[in-house]
Amino acid sequence: MAIRNIVKKGDEVLNKKAKKVEAINQRVTQLLDDMAQTMYENSGVGLAAPQVGILKRIIVIDIGEGLIELLNPEIIESSKEEILGDEGCLSIPDRVGKVKRPEYVKVKGLNRIGETVEYEGREFLARALCHEIDHLNGILFTEKAESITYNEQ
Ligand code: ZN
Repeated sequence: MAIRNIVKKGDEVLNKKAKKVEAINQRVTQLLDDMAQTMYENSGVGLAAPQVGILKRIIVIDIGEGLIELLNPEIIESSKEEILGDEGCLSIPDRVGKVKRPEYVKVKGLNRIGETVEYEGREFLARALCHEIDHLNGILFTEKAESITYNEQ
């Protein structure tokens, strides 16, 4: 495993649409391992492959309830109810924004051995899933935020 460099806002890779994973090979599983390690090392709760410079539809999330790895994730259900909450991003470390996200989403994708898996998320997990899937479509939270403030760490 290796820690990868996190691409920061301003790099155009973050504004591009990522491509579907067509075959799961050793490069993909290595990337999953590296993404998880990079996320934990940076105390993040999620990371999308474009954030390490790879335009593939791959995300990892851990909000403290265990690691979720998803290839080609898609939101297949979401609640009408939305919640306005704080959001940050490892690619924009000095900003926090208030972003509206669905209270609930159901996401479908593949796991690292190519099985179809579904995850249901409420509140913070729903937010993390939406945020990471947005990255795969070249969208940063700052484009959706109702307000943005400096994150004083
Ligand atoms: Zn992000």
